[in-house]
Amino acid sequence: MAEDTVLVTGGAGFIGSHLVDRLVQEGHRVVVVDNLSTGRREHVNPRAAFYQVDITDPELHGLLRRERPRWVSHHAAQSSVLVSVRDPLYDARVNILGSLNLLEACRAAGVEKVVFASSGGAIYGEPRYLPCDEAHPLQPLAPYGVSKVAVEKYLVLYQRSFGLPSVILRYGNVYGPRQDPYGEAGVVAIFTLAMLEGRRPVVFGSGEQERDFLYVDDAVEANLHALKGAKEEAYNIGTQQGVSVNRIFALLKGIIGYEGGPQYSSPRPGEVFKVHLDNSLAAKGLGWSPRVGLEEGLVKTVEYFRHGIASP
Ligand code: NAD
Repeated sequence: MAEDTVLVTGGAGFIGSHLVDRLVQEGHRVVVVDNLSTGRREHVNPRAAFYQVDITDPELHGLLRRERPRWVSHHAAQSSVLVSVRDPLYDARVNILGSLNLLEACRAAGVEKVVFASSGGAIYGEPRYLPCDEAHPLQPLAPYGVSKVAVEKYLVLYQRSFGLPSVILRYGNVYGPRQDPYGEAGVVAIFTLAMLEGRRPVVFGSGEQERDFLYVDDAVEANLHALKGAKEEAYNIGTQQGVSVNRIFALLKGIIGYEGGPQYSSPRPGEVFKVHLDNSLAAKGLGWSPRVGLEEGLVKTVEYFRHGIASP
């Protein structure tokens, strides 16, 4: 078995591509599996092996047998809450059946550990208390959250029944360079591009909804800790701070020098109102804490978008 080959599914996507860069930098051999449905080939580090393969494809089994990764970080997903509400079957096909296909391939190929990108913003539903810890009941409001919970349950089952170790990372609202500013999620990227282009950003609902905004490098760092020696557990990966969408708007407005105001529109279905994540278990069990402050992260993100990105 190749000692330190890491396979990253979704490695052409926003978070996955940053993870790939970091793993390459650390001297790992990296293999990327991505169907490029939302990811971009040009974001994949040239030193990584790239396969344009769908995670639902049976071909994944042969691929893992050939590449023999030691570790797998699973980021490929239908990652939009809104799409999941519109098309729950598609969401389940990719997020549940695709993940299961991957787990079966991991089992057959003797993978040592799987790290899974779950969502602290989507699986708890409207929190009964804040900050939301990992013991909070799982009551997702959208099919996307249900699919993440389902995969978490499969992972626990695969640990117990088949001895496939895994670590679950329940991310907050991750933002940073390369996030898709043309999608429906990713408020920081969407606001940033709109402001830079002099368009008026749309705020859905009152803008008082709060999220736990986590800079992408911190999410990547959590993966490194998880791959290399964490207890098999589910960890919230967030900042423990709730920040409103209106506040994000105001901060970006200041950084960019945008003069206008937001345009308010009706709230969107399936989204929670306020959530932020207790991260003390991650500090204890993973040795991970966030390092990048909100303003610093926003400045870095604006810097990236200022230098221009290609249209979709
Ligand atoms: P993203 O859409 O940029 O990345 C997902 C990647 O998966 C894309 O490159 C896409 O092409 C690929 N993909 C989609 N369907 C596929 C399929 N069937 N086969 C192979 N590849 C496929 O999203 P992201 O924001 O980078 O999210 C990465 C992971 O983290 C996802 O699992 C997402 O649910 C999870 N997550 C993200 C956030 C966030 O704030 N961005 C929060 C919580 C959890």
